[in-house]
Amino acid sequence: MKTNIVLLGPPGSGKGTQGEMLSRELGYVRLSTGDMLREAKRDGTPLGLQAKEYMDCGALVPNELIIDLMMERIEELGEGAPVVFDGFPRTVEQADALGDEVDVDLALNLDVDDAELVNRVTRRRSCPKCNAVYHLDFNPPAKPDACDKCGSALYQRDDDKEATFVNRLATYRENTLPLIEYYERRGNLRTIKGTGDIGEIFEKVKDAVL
Ligand code: AMP
Repeated sequence: MKTNIVLLGPPGSGKGTQGEMLSRELGYVRLSTGDMLREAKRDGTPLGLQAKEYMDCGALVPNELIIDLMMERIEELGEGAPVVFDGFPRTVEQADALGDEVDVDLALNLDVDDAELVNRVTRRRSCPKCNAVYHLDFNPPAKPDACDKCGSALYQRDDDKEATFVNRLATYRENTLPLIEYYERRGNLRTIKGTGDIGEIFEKVKDAVL
């Protein structure tokens, strides 16, 4: 089994969902910078207050803040835990910082067309408490507007509204897309189609990972 996996792909490509399944079914520790930042925002911490202005307009939070945050989390984990990184790295500078700290065994790129991304993101609903994600049509909660796992009321992330999503996609193209070539050059990139049934995508993810 690959120990350190980076999930790549545009916003809405399924990194959170597949990362969650890797964690649940194969015991990976999922480290999601997006979840960490949303928690910090909700708790009103200094990091959350700083991150908010970038997140709300679909821009990236500055590298220094993100790298410090992630390095702290990696240190807390200790040796040997298999980790799936979801939403990190998003820039070459972040990828270099990660590579200095751990060996990245696999960069798994989820490939999804733009039109589908817009649909997925604008129909996405999230749990503020346990960070579970749903899609109103393809992966709906059992009870409308309530999280299956913890019962909390679901919400639509501000940055999942269409206007902000367009900025996130542009940010992805400019800053994060170069990471595909970055990991390809290092020989550990694998691209899989991120469309279709969630379980079938997970089978392909497992094929790449195991
Ligand atoms: P996500 O949930 O991964 O889509 O992240 C939501 C937002 O958090 C992004 O649009 C960025 O504003 C911010 N963010 C998450 N991860 C990073 C990162 N690695 N670098 C910079 N900003 C990030």
